[in-house]
Amino acid sequence: MGRYTGPVCRLCRREGIKLFLKSTRCDSPKCAIEKRPDNPPGMHIGKRRKITDYGSRLREKQKVKRYYGVYERQFRRYMDLAGRSKGNTGSTLMSLLERRLDNIVHRLGFAGSRPQARQLVGHGHVCINGRRVDIPSYLVRAGDKVTIKARPKSLRAVQANLEEFQGKVPEFLSVVRGDNPEGSVLRLPGIEDVSIPVQPALIIELLSK
Ligand code: SF4
Repeated sequence: MGRYTGPVCRLCRREGIKLFLKSTRCDSPKCAIEKRPDNPPGMHIGKRRKITDYGSRLREKQKVKRYYGVYERQFRRYMDLAGRSKGNTGSTLMSLLERRLDNIVHRLGFAGSRPQARQLVGHGHVCINGRRVDIPSYLVRAGDKVTIKARPKSLRAVQANLEEFQGKVPEFLSVVRGDNPEGSVLRLPGIEDVSIPVQPALIIELLSK
């Protein structure tokens, strides 16, 4: 599947929930979901078709993929990894997605949205344990320190985002603000740390057929 370049609010409207794909707008009254919560995209305004069992499983997968900004092939790779690991496959899948560096950068408040965090990482502004990491899918480990490259341009961008940050830092992370903001991964995230309602069992059912 190619990269989606269309309007991102459409993705939230399709899933019927806020996926927080646009920085400050998502918390403002301008958000399309705030204005009209049950308004799927398409010609038949205000109508949501009756959904089949297959449809509800597919929507759950699409919702999670869109929330984390992951494409199909990469998502299946996470699914394989989760399937091969010990423990509950659904919880492991969500934990893997939460551990992505772009997600961590966003949840620390260093970036206003996951797409913005992805750009920040891709452009080399983020370091893990003092070493630059420019791979948004990098999986953090417990004890990792997330810092911003000591360059005025990098720090300015992050400090502006931290000032605007209205969310709550999840319990598995901690952040120290200041001239050189630093985030720490206190433990590996679990399904309880995911900030949208998700039913991984539906995704497992869909992909294990
Ligand atoms: Fe658009 Fe953000 Fe609202 Fe989604 S949550 S509809 S991306 S403003």
